[in-house]
Parts: sequence; C-alpha cells; structure tokens
Amino acid sequence: MWQPKLIMMNGQLLPFAEAGLHPLSLAVTYATTVFEGLRAYHRPDTGQFWLFRLSEHIRRLQHGMKLLRFDGTYETDYLRDCLTRLIQANEPDDDVYIRLLVYIEGTGLMSTTGPIGFTAAAMPREKSRFDDTGMSLGVSSWQRLSDNACPPRIKSTANYLNARLVSHQARADGYDGALMLTPEGKVSEAPIACFFMVRDGRLITPDRSSNILESITRDTILTRYRELTGHRAEERAVDRSELYFAEEAFLCGTGQEILPVTSIDRLPVGNGTVGPITKQLREDYFAIVRGTVPDHPEWRTLV
Ligand code: PMP
Repeated sequence: MWQPKLIMMNGQLLPFAEAGLHPLSLAVTYATTVFEGLRAYHRPDTGQFWLFRLSEHIRRLQHGMKLLRFDGTYETDYLRDCLTRLIQANEPDDDVYIRLLVYIEGTGLMSTTGPIGFTAAAMPREKSRFDDTGMSLGVSSWQRLSDNACPPRIKSTANYLNARLVSHQARADGYDGALMLTPEGKVSEAPIACFFMVRDGRLITPDRSSNILESITRDTILTRYRELTGHRAEERAVDRSELYFAEEAFLCGTGQEILPVTSIDRLPVGNGTVGPITKQLREDYFAIVRGTVPDHPEWRTLV
C-alpha cells in the first residue's frame, strides 16, 4: 500500500511528519475546526484519479466556517488546486482518502475568529472488514446532539465527542457499530455514517431534521435510487421499533462507502444476510464513483 509523503498546510507542502499546530490555537482549546473526508478514486485502466463530489464537500466546509463565524473562508477553486497538488505530490498508485481541515489557528479567548488555517492530507484507506459480511449495530444509550445545541448538520470536530462516546459504548457492549437516537427518540445516524433501511420493499432514511450530518453519500444514494427504480426513497422520522422489522439495512458515508448491517440489538435484519437492494445500490455506487458508468459526470473531478 502506498504511503503519504507530503502534507499541505496553508497551501505549502511539507514532510508528513513535520506538520504541527500550536497547542493553544483555538482549534485545540475550543475545537473550532470543520473538516471533510473526501475520496479520489483510481482508474487502473487510465491511471487517472477522480475526486468524488468535490464541490459538495467544499460547500459543506464553507457552511461550517460560516456557522462558526470564521474570520474568512477559502474559495472552491483554490481548495481544488491545493488538493490536486497534494495528490500529485504524493504519487499514489491506488485510491486516496483525503482529510481537509479548516480551523482557527489563532490563540486567544473563546470567541476569537482568526486567523484561520487549513491542513490537507492524502492517505490510503484500507477496505472495511465489514464490507462483505455486514455489521452488527446496537442502539446507543447516548443521545445524538441536537441542532439547537451543537448542530450535527455541519462537520465540526466538536461533534465527534458525541460520536466517540457512542463508538466506545458499542465496542464495550460487543457490537461492530452503533445507531444514535435523537432526544425525541427517533433514529438519527451512526457515529460516522448515515443510516438506510428497507421496510416492505421501500427504502427509508431518517430525514434531515433527525440531527444528521447532511451526508453527500446519502444524497448520492437517494438520487441513484430514484434514477434506478423510478421511486423516491422515504426521508422521514424513523421510530426505533421499526429497526427490528427492517428487511435490509446499511450505513453510508465517504469513508465507509456502503456497509451492510445484518443485525440490530442482536436481532437479525431480514434473514441476517446482505439483501438485494443493498447489493444493487453498492454495485451502482462503486460504478458511479469510479466512473465506469457514464452517469453524473458532474460528480467526478479529474485530478
Ligand atoms: N454522518 C456522520 C456523523 C459522518 O461523520 C459522516 C462521514 N462524513 C457521514 C454521516 C457521511 O457523510 P458523507 O457521506 O458526506 O461522507
């Protein structure tokens, strides 16, 4: 597997191990960081790399900077050029996972708004061990953050304290992963992925007011499901007890891609194997991200 050589800070490339930030920067003391995980998929036949839904990732990052009242922003074209330089400089020979973080570098009081800075790293990412077998999930006793306290809609590092509590509880309880419920008791999402299920043959996912991150993979799946089947998936509040009657379930995200869920709270999902709708959507997803089907060229940016 290829290894990262160079990392980018504020537009400058430097050796990966030499990146550093002051421990009193607001990014550290008050978690004033928003970030993205993106992927650039390799096409072995052409040797090209294609970033998937780059502009949507950058738009979400810009929304986060706005909400956290950062002193300035980064333009889409500038970040696209930076990521291109970063990937090329690392000379990968397989898929690339990118971490792009924007934060307040300045030290100072809690309401300090700048100066801002960014770091971008390009790394390999191993295939998930749940890819083929599916995962067991448990419903967490930790609640999902709510929009009027610490909005899960933006990808801020502060939100991942909630996610960590949930992940560690799941691990201690012997599950592969977890689902969180909103303070109202509706299904929200997993610590680092969104949730879909199939019930009575219909694809269902918690709506955008269920305290979820506005996931780009979720949007890709909703769009492709509509295009492939001619039906709209249901985006709505999902009750906890519905989880136990699902015929299929899966998690989705840029990093996780599409991971089948085969049990929830130790009850099998459907017959406990990967279902046909999950299989179809996964195959389609990999064809779309790699561009082996021509649909949605606007989602792929050549590096
Ligand atoms: N929810 C959370 C909490 C996440 O961290 C992620 C990963 N970014 C997702 C959902 C999936 O989002 P996306 O499809 O945009 O990667």
